[in-house]
Amino acid sequence: MAERVAIVTGAGRGIGAATARILAARGDRVAVWDLDIGPAEETAAEIRAAGGEAIALACDVSRRDAVEAAVAQTVQALGGLGVLVACAGLTRDNLIHKMSEEDFDIVVATHLKGSFLVAQAAQRHMVPQRYGKIVLTSSTSALGNRGQANYAAVKAGIQGLTRTLAIELGPFGINVNAVAPGFIETRMTRQTAERVGVDFEQMKAQAAAEIPLRRVGQPEEVGRVAAFLCSDDASFVSGQVIYVAGGPRG
Ligand code: NAP
Repeated sequence: MAERVAIVTGAGRGIGAATARILAARGDRVAVWDLDIGPAEETAAEIRAAGGEAIALACDVSRRDAVEAAVAQTVQALGGLGVLVACAGLTRDNLIHKMSEEDFDIVVATHLKGSFLVAQAAQRHMVPQRYGKIVLTSSTSALGNRGQANYAAVKAGIQGLTRTLAIELGPFGINVNAVAPGFIETRMTRQTAERVGVDFEQMKAQAAAEIPLRRVGQPEEVGRVAAFLCSDDASFVSGQVIYVAGGPRG
């Protein structure tokens, strides 16, 4: 698997885009998936401009038909599938007494069901070839976070999914791990600041004061850990959740 094909979901922005760029720079041919084709095209164009190979696909990871079609298109266009990094995500924060059922459901569908669907579709290609690297995205919120009952539940669920897939797929030469980022500077955290009416720089400073490394993280700092988990340097690492949070729990 000297030259691999990698799918990165949610790769039009933030952590997914950084991961896609890093995998491509290290030699993978990358399928850049996102909900809308526009941001996916932007990341793919950046990769190609840097000398890498990438295609862009629109795919809502919460829909089985869309996921299966996008996997088939990826395999057809790039000639295989060796790596999956699931980064697609959104937040719908609220305190439990105000959280709507719709906001609970969309977070479950995007993160938990989405990770399940993409991993299930990917392993169909990985098992027969006895090779695969899967990285799912959890969060420090898995440990509990005020206003994020939906998000904390799915991010904890992704840790259970990671360990279980590692047990089931290990016999077929497939490593399954998760990254669990803390506060990373992306549109997601910017949107949180906007929603609660706090200046983003002020929110970053407040978060940094609580983080042992005294700063917030950048998308590339998560992407490099995801790329390591997909590499042969991590060939005997499976079923692990690596916190990328500037400290033991962000
Ligand atoms: P981001 O910049 O908002 O990027 C997330 C991407 O996922 C967006 O392009 C978004 O598309 C896409 N997406 C949303 N719903 C989707 C769906 N149903 N199907 C396909 N794509 C979908 O966020 P990020 O901060 O990079 O987050 C990436 C991952 O890291 C998420 O799983 C997030 O929970 C996790 N994480 C982030 C942080 C942080 O501090 N930023 C911390 C811990 C964990 P649209 O733009 O069209 O909505």
